[in-house]
Amino acid sequence: MQISDINNDFIESSLSSMDAEEILKWSFENFGTRAAIGSSFQLTGSVIIDITSKTGLDFRVFTVDTLRLHDETYKVMEEVESKYGIKVERFAPDKEKLDSMVSRFGEYLFFDSKAKQEYCCEVRKVEPNDRALDTVDVWISGLRNDQSKSRKNISKVEMVVIKGRDVLKINPLVNWSVDEIKKYIADNNVPYNKLFDEGYDSIGCTICSTPLNEGEAPRSGRWRWFNGSDDNKECGIHIPKKGGK
Ligand code: SF4
Repeated sequence: MQISDINNDFIESSLSSMDAEEILKWSFENFGTRAAIGSSFQLTGSVIIDITSKTGLDFRVFTVDTLRLHDETYKVMEEVESKYGIKVERFAPDKEKLDSMVSRFGEYLFFDSKAKQEYCCEVRKVEPNDRALDTVDVWISGLRNDQSKSRKNISKVEMVVIKGRDVLKINPLVNWSVDEIKKYIADNNVPYNKLFDEGYDSIGCTICSTPLNEGEAPRSGRWRWFNGSDDNKECGIHIPKKGGK
């Protein structure tokens, strides 16, 4: 199948009604190595990898290594590689862009302003992620509707435009609750990031992701110093333009 064969009718009438296992199977059966799971090893990503492994198909997993990840995140990557017999593809920041940013603004520019945080995320996350997406037609991600206000209306399947090209973005667990995710992990002995046992709800780079306090909304632990002034906390990876026909 080619990405040009997929239109909005097919997405609505067929793909959107598949459950997680069905759509993951469909992705790797029809697109092979042009499909990949993009994961930062949140709980949802761990579940997606486990469900995919049960299809018996070969599958790819890529991650963005910002070079500022928690030790626990590197550890779960190794556990995933060992359990499923796969190699997680790591995409790191471009050295020249990183050196230029750090020499102009320092390592900790993200404290200064929203614009500098976005610049840091652009260099360390978005550009490497875009390089990973150059290798796929189907991008499988772990976004869920209950993670934030800005993710409330995300669909299970949508066509997005990356660098002027249509890419089918699939969020197989978009309507799962966090309790369902945790139950699946416990029932299936899925490797997961142990920081989730220490109050973290969303894990990215060190410093920029912190544990939640009692009663705080999901993602409040991200860029905590912007809480109150900016509830739309996205690093830029998940705000591509809509595509499709
Ligand atoms: Fe930079 Fe923080 Fe974004 Fe990581 S999460 S890329 S350190 S601003």
